[in-house]
Amino acid sequence: MKGLCKTECGMTVEYESHKFSDGFVYYLPRNLDKTIHHCMIIEMEMEMWGHPDPNIEKIYRENKDRLNITQEKFIEILDNLQYDPYSFLGDEEADVMSKLRKGKMYELKKYFENQLNRLTSPSFQSRFPANGNQNETIEMINSPETTSTVSTRSGWNVTSQTIEGLCSLILPVLPTGNGYQLEFLGYLYEIMIRLEDAKKCFELQYECTGEPELKEHVEELNKKIQERKDVQVVEENIPDDLTPEDMQKRIEFTELNIKKYIIELFSNNFTELFKKNPTVKEQCEKNRRKREDMMLNFNENSAIDTVSLGSLAYILRIARGKKRSKSKDICKVCKRSWNEKEDIFSESTPKKINCVDETCFTKQGGLVKKTPMELIHNIQSINATRNILAHPGDYDQEMFKRILKQTYATCDVINYRIEGFLKNKEST
Ligand SMILES: [Zn+2]
Ligand SMILES: [Zn+2]
Repeated sequence: MKGLCKTECGMTVEYESHKFSDGFVYYLPRNLDKTIHHCMIIEMEMEMWGHPDPNIEKIYRENKDRLNITQEKFIEILDNLQYDPYSFLGDEEADVMSKLRKGKMYELKKYFENQLNRLTSPSFQSRFPANGNQNETIEMINSPETTSTVSTRSGWNVTSQTIEGLCSLILPVLPTGNGYQLEFLGYLYEIMIRLEDAKKCFELQYECTGEPELKEHVEELNKKIQERKDVQVVEENIPDDLTPEDMQKRIEFTELNIKKYIIELFSNNFTELFKKNPTVKEQCEKNRRKREDMMLNFNENSAIDTVSLGSLAYILRIARGKKRSKSKDICKVCKRSWNEKEDIFSESTPKKINCVDETCFTKQGGLVKKTPMELIHNIQSINATRNILAHPGDYDQEMFKRILKQTYATCDVINYRIEGFLKNKEST
């Protein structure tokens, strides 16, 4: 679709349509030579935010080929915009967090659709650096909106009026932090779990402005998309009439796989883990003694062979080395600092090591064995089913059946992930 640029820069552009799975169509403006139309008016407008008095005549002369209007018209458009910089796009940035908090996803999507229907401008940055609002944390203490906090027994309460104020301070984290239109659209699609749509937005933005963060984000989305596909395949292949005995077997098989995974992850050396977590060591030894007392025959290949499913999940969780920091602090070695409630690497026995940086933490002797939280949650979930299987009479038949089906799928996902991990290990 060909037409004049909507900013009245005078250039003819080709609007290339990109259709999304919910029916929305994004029109990417291209110059007639197929390059992206980075509109001179928008660029000039952004320039003027940071720089109120540019030499417009000079800029006009230098960029004449990007405009198809007279200098007078150019100045006139810019003058009009000065008092209403958003006139092309409608209102100011929507208060995203406030809308999300109230579940107004539909209104939020419509807001951005409206803006894009008025004008698509791939280089327009709503978070212009001069506005100082990229992805950074905000000094809330100094903000007048948050001062009317009330102390209660459970801590600090923010009154409802001020929550709105707080929401306006919280910005969605976007890959570049510049607040491009397509970044907002991609952000919305991502929380709507329309990952393919989200990916399309960030790919288009990458073509337009080329920031490496956009490409990295596309790669992250690719991983998520693949994971979802894997789970879907698993769910489609669950047998219909599962018995508790099938389930028991499936869980046992999965448990063996989890142990294989942990042994591989630790190269079957748990000395360091035990030294840092004496209670885990005690647990392992207690389990072993119990088995010995019961005179069960087992071939012990590893210190974790007798450990329960619940403890396996626990081991994986603590071995990640991650904790939420209790206070603002700074690393004694690398001097990097972190805030209260930020995720950091941390351990306290036999000595205290804290750092936000993984490399620095491990250099100081910290233990990090990475496992995705999703895998740990899944292990906890099949452990819960095992407890349910011990008391099936407590559950409604329909509910029980559903639990079996879900757990079967969870086991398959765990096994699938672990097989992938072990294969990867072999090939490297
Ligand atoms: Zn234009
Ligand atoms: Zn450090």
